[in-house]
Amino acid sequence: MTKTYLPLTNSLYDYVLDNSLREPEILRDLRLETQKMAESMMQTSADQAQFMALLVKLFGAKKMLEIGTFTGYSALSLALAAGIDAKIVCCDISEEWTNIAKSYWEKADVSDNIDLRLGPATETLNNMIDNEIESYDFAFIDADKVNYDNYFEACYKLIRPGGLIAIDNVLWGGSVIDPDKQDDDTNAIRALNEKLFNDQRIDLSMLSIADGLTLARKR
Ligand code: SAH
Ligand code: CA
Repeated sequence: MTKTYLPLTNSLYDYVLDNSLREPEILRDLRLETQKMAESMMQTSADQAQFMALLVKLFGAKKMLEIGTFTGYSALSLALAAGIDAKIVCCDISEEWTNIAKSYWEKADVSDNIDLRLGPATETLNNMIDNEIESYDFAFIDADKVNYDNYFEACYKLIRPGGLIAIDNVLWGGSVIDPDKQDDDTNAIRALNEKLFNDQRIDLSMLSIADGLTLARKR
C-alpha cells in the first residue's frame, strides 16, 4: 500500500506538544510526581489523555470504566473532561499507586465522581454485568495485557450500543511485529488486535498515537 503517513521524530513530537498540549496544572503536577517513580513509563501520555478527554466531550460520555488506574492520570483527565455528572469506575489492584491517585482526585475536587474498586479487574467487571449491562458510555482498557481479551469482552457487555471502548498499548513498543517476541503480553495483544480486526460487532480504528490506541465502537 502507498504510504501516506509521516514518521514521527522527537522534534516533530515536541512540535505537536508545543502546539497543542493544554494540560491543566493539576494533571501536570501529577505527571511530574509520577515521573519520579520507577514505573512512570506506565502513565498515559499527556497528548493521549487530552485526545481521550476530547472524545469523551464529543460524544457526551458520562458513565465510564477504567481498567488500570495506576496514579490516576487518565482517570483525572477523563473526570475533568466529563464534568460534574460524570461517574468513573476505576479498577486496579495497587493500593499504593491508587493512594496517589486519590490524593490528586481530591485536590481536583473530582473524588465524588470516581469509584475506585481495588481487586482483580476481571472479578470487578464480572460482578457488575448482572445489574449494569449496556449502561456505560466509555471504557479505557489499560491494565495487565494477558487479560486484555477478558477485559474487552466484559466491557463489551457493560457498554451500551454506540458506546466506545479504547484499548491502550496495542503496538506494545513495536513488539507486535517482531516474530522473536513470543512472551505472554505480546501474544495477548497480537491476538486481541487480530480478533478485533475481524469483529463485526464493532466499528474500529487503530491509532498510532503514543504506544498505539485502538478505538472500538459497539454497534
Ligand atoms: N491508566 C494509567 C496507567 C495504568 S498502568 C495512567 O494513566 O496512569 C496499569 C495498571 O494496571 C497498574 O496500576 C496495575 O496495578 C494495574 N493492574 C495490573 N493487573 C491488574 C489486574 N489484574 N486488575 C486490575 N488492575 C491491574
Ligand atoms: Ca498504557
